[in-house]
Amino acid sequence: MISPWALIPNLTLPRELFCKPGALAALEGLGGKRVALVTGGSSLKASGALDRARQLLERGGGKVVMESVVAKEPSEPDVRPLAEQARQLEPDWIVGIGGGSVLDAAKAMWVWYEQPEVTLAAIAKPHSLPPLRKKARLALVPTTSGSGSECSPALTLNGAQGAKQVIVSRELTPDVAILDAQLAATMPPAVTAFTGIDAFTHAQEAYVSPLATSIVKTLAVSALRALLEFLPRAYAHGDDLEARERIHVAASLAGLAQASASTGLTHALAHALGARTGKPHGLLNAAFLVPVARFNAADGARGRYDALAKDLGLASADALIEEEGRLLEKLDLAGALSAVLPAASRNGDEALAAAALQDPCARTNPRRVNDAKALAGWLQTLGAS
Ligand code: FE
Repeated sequence: MISPWALIPNLTLPRELFCKPGALAALEGLGGKRVALVTGGSSLKASGALDRARQLLERGGGKVVMESVVAKEPSEPDVRPLAEQARQLEPDWIVGIGGGSVLDAAKAMWVWYEQPEVTLAAIAKPHSLPPLRKKARLALVPTTSGSGSECSPALTLNGAQGAKQVIVSRELTPDVAILDAQLAATMPPAVTAFTGIDAFTHAQEAYVSPLATSIVKTLAVSALRALLEFLPRAYAHGDDLEARERIHVAASLAGLAQASASTGLTHALAHALGARTGKPHGLLNAAFLVPVARFNAADGARGRYDALAKDLGLASADALIEEEGRLLEKLDLAGALSAVLPAASRNGDEALAAAALQDPCARTNPRRVNDAKALAGWLQTLGAS
């Protein structure tokens, strides 16, 4: 019998990828007759990009039949009414333009527009989502350089008590991804730093994941090289379009690596603490990136970090971890840990540790973690340092 594992693709890609300055213009050739636009609102409107997107779609013969602004970190109750509206207005294309939350909301809206009966529990198992594209296709346009959702077969929604619900299916890989770095050039420095470190963490955790394949490592190394060099430049000089372009592409590559090999303990902790504090996902990753790398490299997974270091032209895992510390300093994120670790965790916090261990990302951490008490003890050492 064929193992179900053999049937899961290592990589799925959008059918079309537009990746050049001014790539937003590709919306004109999409061919949609009735378009549903999903956006995050204000900054896109202020920059004029939303008007331009609308014009491009209309010039291409389409009509924008619905326009939805979604909240940050949406949950099912935020998205269901949009899907219901879509069922009445019958768009043939869904176009999501915004940060990671917006792109994921567009994916979720698409799922319930096409498959209203489906529950999150029923599609929790990877690749169990019934076919989409009976009614509409999906184009995604990221305006941050972070989540990689524009190329990935995954969507994340906020669930009960802020816990993350992740759905993975090849059906969810968008038809079209438009990478126009000019749209990301208006990100304020803090958002550039948070989303960029999120992308960095995707690439690093995917590389050291037990699920990493050679293609994952190739994607991850390419993303990490670009982020090490160009993220500080984009942070310091938001109008540096070369840097913007390089980190925009790097975020997509990191997203592909993450979609294939998942992430690890940094993300598990970021999700658990994010549910409790509502702090930005990228800031939480910045807090745990170096401590988790040290923790993993100290026992069992050192070889994986040494290999990554070598691929990046660095001497060893230690040199890599130092380089990451320097990157965080350049982004003014060296103090992220003390900014996010609540006082409770400094005294050991078993509930937080248990929530992190429940997160699916903990299962693909290269160093086995399964003891909440031990993890809480480790968190305590971080608070003390
Ligand atoms: Fe992330």
